[in-house]
Amino acid sequence: MKRYVYADNAATTRLDPEAFEAMRPYLLDEFANASQPYSFSRTAKDALKGARNTIAQCINARPDEIFFTSGGTESDNWAIKGSVGAGQALVASSIEHHAVLNSCRAMERLGHPLFYVPPDRNALVSPAKLNAVMTEQVGLVSVMFANNEVGAIEPVGALGRIAHEYGALFHTDAVQAVGHVKVDVKALDVDLLSASAHKFHGPKGIGFLYVKSGTPMRAYLDGGRQERGLRAGTENIASVVGMATALKNSCKTMQATADLLTTLENALLEGLYAAKLDFLRNAAEVDRLPGVISLSFPDADGEVILHRMDLLGVCVSTGAACDSEYVTVSHVLQAIGVPEEYARGTIRVSLGGNNTIRDVETIVSALRKILCRA
Ligand code: PLP
Repeated sequence: MKRYVYADNAATTRLDPEAFEAMRPYLLDEFANASQPYSFSRTAKDALKGARNTIAQCINARPDEIFFTSGGTESDNWAIKGSVGAGQALVASSIEHHAVLNSCRAMERLGHPLFYVPPDRNALVSPAKLNAVMTEQVGLVSVMFANNEVGAIEPVGALGRIAHEYGALFHTDAVQAVGHVKVDVKALDVDLLSASAHKFHGPKGIGFLYVKSGTPMRAYLDGGRQERGLRAGTENIASVVGMATALKNSCKTMQATADLLTTLENALLEGLYAAKLDFLRNAAEVDRLPGVISLSFPDADGEVILHRMDLLGVCVSTGAACDSEYVTVSHVLQAIGVPEEYARGTIRVSLGGNNTIRDVETIVSALRKILCRA
């Protein structure tokens, strides 16, 4: 098998082997439908309950505030489409993931006014800027916990307080944060929070939405009575169990992983300075997700860098997509005002707990080969 240096952990992560082992019984022998009343279903039912308890504990929620979904995209769709009342407006930051932005736009097409809050150059959404767009008509404010392209961590607690002052609900897309940085829904006082298992070494196609007790929510999928009648469909026990195991392990090793990632990040940047490469590190001056490094190189093409990195055995992602002859810079890079000549040459390196210093050396050496024109 070809050995890649995988540095795209913000896109997805390797499944935790312990999570895989925890899932196995529910895919084979313990395959019962958790909603059936006979005793064969008891193991599945207990597993579902146990996983809900574990996940709730990891984010300081109550088990009945955790609703299982098919992942981050569904959680975001539900949070936005299921909570906004008749005639209410929405507010979102302009650097949200498309799962949030396009859900908000769908609500706008249904007649709900939509307002955007711009970030600053470091991708931070300030409470003052949110305050400036708020009115009593706003029913929901959605600002992400941490940005997936540049890693900036938003002041979610302060933003939520402003939303509440106007009587609005506050949703945060924490897909990039859960399992990577401390998330405490009670301390932050958020009403809705989205998460996705495959971002923290869980399986793909499973996630959850935290819904603060008492928050009025419409059902997202109509059908049976699963998930208290709000999200119908036979429960995906194996994936739920895998998600809970992966989250518990990620939370247990969070500090050690963050320390490793800080060391690797510093080594990567030192390697780039030593190579005398000209670059900008985006969202350089704020708290960020450990291991997420958005780099913009002048007069380069991010997509070309990505493909050349691929040929050299390194997986990263880009912040600009080449659409035939035009390069489209991502909405995030545009919103934070990265100069055009740099923005076009942007890549995102996202390191994870499986990366090593050797991987970082390979990444630096690949970037030198691609970008040193002398
Ligand atoms: N929100 C953010 C911030 C993300 O980074 C992603 C995935 O990249 C999603 C939502 C969508 O999550 P999923 O892939 O589980 O649908």
